[in-house]
Amino acid sequence: MSRLTSTEVRGIVFDLDGTLYVCDRFAAEIQGAAAAYIAGLKQISQPEAEKLMAATRQRLTTESGTVQTLSAVCRELGGSVQELHRFFERTLRPEAYLVRDERVIGLLERLSEQFSLYIYTNNNRVLTTRIMNYLGLDGAVHGIYTIDDTWRGKPDEGIVNRILEEIGLPPNEALFVGDRYDVDLRVPEQLGCPVYLSQNLEQLLRLGELLTPSSPADTSAAPAGPQAVRS
Ligand SMILES: [Mg+2]
Repeated sequence: MSRLTSTEVRGIVFDLDGTLYVCDRFAAEIQGAAAAYIAGLKQISQPEAEKLMAATRQRLTTESGTVQTLSAVCRELGGSVQELHRFFERTLRPEAYLVRDERVIGLLERLSEQFSLYIYTNNNRVLTTRIMNYLGLDGAVHGIYTIDDTWRGKPDEGIVNRILEEIGLPPNEALFVGDRYDVDLRVPEQLGCPVYLSQNLEQLLRLGELLTPSSPADTSAAPAGPQAVRS
């Protein structure tokens, strides 16, 4: 699914994890580290913590009607999101799981010639920087917004408004790209931003075709989704 309606996009705000790379093993490592943190906090075993977190996530999702983030689950269980991220910084090893992909590097470099690119992530700055460096994506982005800037995780309308103000774009000129609609895209869309759901490499590369239709990569595959947004 993609939602591209604006013809005036000048900036693109990307989510990081699950959007600019997709890695199930690293995603599982993050969940495992969070369970280890909760296990320590509650003095229970890691499998017990995993069950407790899954049940909590399900309950919160049912109550709220939207998908719940790891931050929300952590907070609900009495944990500190700050401590969780310090734990992540000490224990997670993205370099052991992630693989640099030249196609994504090329995509961001090509997009950066025409658009200002930003990262807005619920990950922390230390890990975001490590991941961006490791994947070779750090050179193409103009700014990075992480959870430890404010400790207010996505979704958060106030933060999206602040980002729009800082990057100096009205909503209709800032395209938000993410892999979770409820977390990454619902708020920006409600504020009037164009949004694009990307959950795998194919969808991410398709974004390049939609936004820069004159590029050589565009000639080999006809976009099947919503049509190009720039003329
Ligand atoms: Mg994500």
